[in-house]
Amino acid sequence: MVSDPYLGKYTTCISARSTDREILKKAQDGGIATTLMVYALEEGIIDGTIVAGEGDLPWKPRPFVAMSRKDILKAQKAKYNISPQISWIKEATRSFGLDKVGVTGVCCQIQAVRKAQLYPINMRDIPGKIAFVVGLFCMENFLYDSIQAIVEDHTNQSLSSVEKMRIGKGKFQVYTERGNVATAPLQATHKYGQPGCYVCLDYVSNLADISTGSVGSPDGWSTVFVRTRVGNDIWSKAVDAGLFETKPIEEVKPGLELVMKLAKIKLDGNRKTLEERRNFGVNKALRDPYA
Ligand code: FAD
Repeated sequence: MVSDPYLGKYTTCISARSTDREILKKAQDGGIATTLMVYALEEGIIDGTIVAGEGDLPWKPRPFVAMSRKDILKAQKAKYNISPQISWIKEATRSFGLDKVGVTGVCCQIQAVRKAQLYPINMRDIPGKIAFVVGLFCMENFLYDSIQAIVEDHTNQSLSSVEKMRIGKGKFQVYTERGNVATAPLQATHKYGQPGCYVCLDYVSNLADISTGSVGSPDGWSTVFVRTRVGNDIWSKAVDAGLFETKPIEEVKPGLELVMKLAKIKLDGNRKTLEERRNFGVNKALRDPYA
């Protein structure tokens, strides 16, 4: 087990992609999140999973409980705005009656799942019912208005014409239905990030059973951290079943070095922000304790 202050605990870090053509075709990256949840469902490890599906506006996600392969596939691709996954946990167990819940989400959501398991205030029946947690890497997320402004004002595309969004190589990239790629410098998007993202101390979903993201692996592949006993069991069986093509992370470019670099940028930067806020808070309190 590796234990790293930036990348968390993990038993395996690997580059991988799904061998399922239907999943790969619509995947954000290597289709890891979807393939894992479909496998867990088909093996009876979960009886449903909370995913970020399509909402009522283009690219506005809506969490829902997927209980079939078809529904899990409906949630493919990253929607770079908030999908309140955690608000569906109680729904999953109470309204849908699930005993083995799968959850996919970004780092802060995975932290919330683990907190709900440790301190199940108002979530009494939840701790034992979280069966499998897949986390996504996340530098920052946006509000819907912000993603609309990024796409429409900075890349001059309408959200309804977008086929896929990607963040990579210093650019926010928008792929349109007509096959065009419009980009905006990543720098231009930072002012739209949610304030909460700038105090978050997790880049690679350290608390998930398995976490995955694009950074570190070639296009169409994913970087995968296998972290827990549950994750290890599912990952090794899925690989043995031929569900993934894999390559040692040391053999791909840009590799783990880039994951580490970005994790340091996020965590060190956000620690500084937290420290500044703490100092500001103390000084303010000293000036006016009742403010
Ligand atoms: P697919 O098979 O395409 O499935 C997508 C999965 O993502 C589904 O399970 C769906 O439920 C889930 N999902 C989609 N949108 C959301 C959302 N808004 N909130 C919660 N879950 C969602 N990767 C990096 O390497 N670096 C980053 O900085 C980074 N930032 C990200 C920021 C956000 C807001 C999101 C949503 C993802 C980010 N990712 C990042 C992860 C990356 O974009 C892919 O989501 C990840 O690699 C999974 O790809 P896949 O092909 O395995 O998933």
